[in-house]
Amino acid sequence: MLLEKKIPVGVLGATGSVGQKFVALLANHPWFEVKEVAASERSAGKKYKDAVNWILTTPLPHEIGNLIVKECEPDLDCRIAFSGLDSGIAGEAEEKFAKAGYVVVSNSKNHRMDKDVPLLVPEINHDHLEIIKTQKFGNGCIVTNPNCSTIGLVLALKPLYDNFGIETVNVVTLQALSGAGYPGVSSLDVIDNVIPFISGEEAKVESEPLKILGKYNSGKIENTKLKISAQCNRVSVIDGHLECVQVKLKKNAAPEQIIETWRNFKGEPQKKNLPTAPVNPIHYFDEEKYPQPKIHRDIDKGMAVSIGRLRKDTLLDYKFVILSHNTVRGAAGGAILCAEMMVADGYIK
Ligand code: NAP
Repeated sequence: MLLEKKIPVGVLGATGSVGQKFVALLANHPWFEVKEVAASERSAGKKYKDAVNWILTTPLPHEIGNLIVKECEPDLDCRIAFSGLDSGIAGEAEEKFAKAGYVVVSNSKNHRMDKDVPLLVPEINHDHLEIIKTQKFGNGCIVTNPNCSTIGLVLALKPLYDNFGIETVNVVTLQALSGAGYPGVSSLDVIDNVIPFISGEEAKVESEPLKILGKYNSGKIENTKLKISAQCNRVSVIDGHLECVQVKLKKNAAPEQIIETWRNFKGEPQKKNLPTAPVNPIHYFDEEKYPQPKIHRDIDKGMAVSIGRLRKDTLLDYKFVILSHNTVRGAAGGAILCAEMMVADGYIK
């Protein structure tokens, strides 16, 4: 799909871990053009290149580097506001932008479980976008992206859920440091260590998939009924969340059938060939020591979920390992894909 003109976008929280990823991924985007960057009053008024502590391995895009950072007030010259705001401020700021007529696509937790807000993974539930019509923001709206661990998990579960049904899921996460934002966890806390606690994370991983896998029905999203138990750990990896999953299925399935459903899985972004869509949302490895964060987090532009080690489980039916890039698929890249889906589905003109 070609657009006549690029859509002007802004990045809220542009100096943060997710904000920088937005800037990098949007720099040469075929549909979107970064016109505004905004952050806290500590950064506002400075050139972006002077305000940001750029920690990505790709160079800071020259033109965006020269933009002046604004405060997060809804007087920005853009149609879409991508939000990578700290959750302490995101809830109120995003509502202000939506009320002022902006399309807000957010990574923050604040509005994810609001009943009129889609919690979108475009390969799974693009039909949930319809619920935007029940929001009270006029021309504006809020759409959210799930938690960075939820995304990998729910993409791996979706083909199993559709083909075999799922009763129970147990997941243990090993989450990367960039997931804690910048500067994040102190080096003395995390070097030579694993921290078996991430505030609020387990509740998100246990609840968000129920909404994403839920059914949209006449103006309502009905959550699915599925039991999930999560334990979340911070490990000394820069990017890429690994998750060790056990599942109990409703129907019998052979390992080959499960692997085939993963390998064949495609969604609406693939059918519509959206610019940020991975060619294959799921990449299954036969090699028994894969996937690994350092080696596989960037597969398919960092937008694919890698899975490996499918085997029988002695407690539930099967166990396997998932890897997904937390700041790309799990944050900025996922949110950009949501906005592309909204354009393709006619929600952003
Ligand atoms: P971060 O590195 O701490 O960045 C936070 C951003 O918010 C910075 O740009 C900061 O600007 C801005 N900010 C803070 N207080 C503000 C205020 N009072 N007014 C305006 N702007 C303010 O955090 P992050 O890791 O990028 O995460 C951003 C959001 O995405 C969080 O809600 C997080 O939970 C969510 N998320 C993160 C990940 C991940 O992998 N990191 C994944 C999914 C979702 P200054 O630099 O000017 O202070």
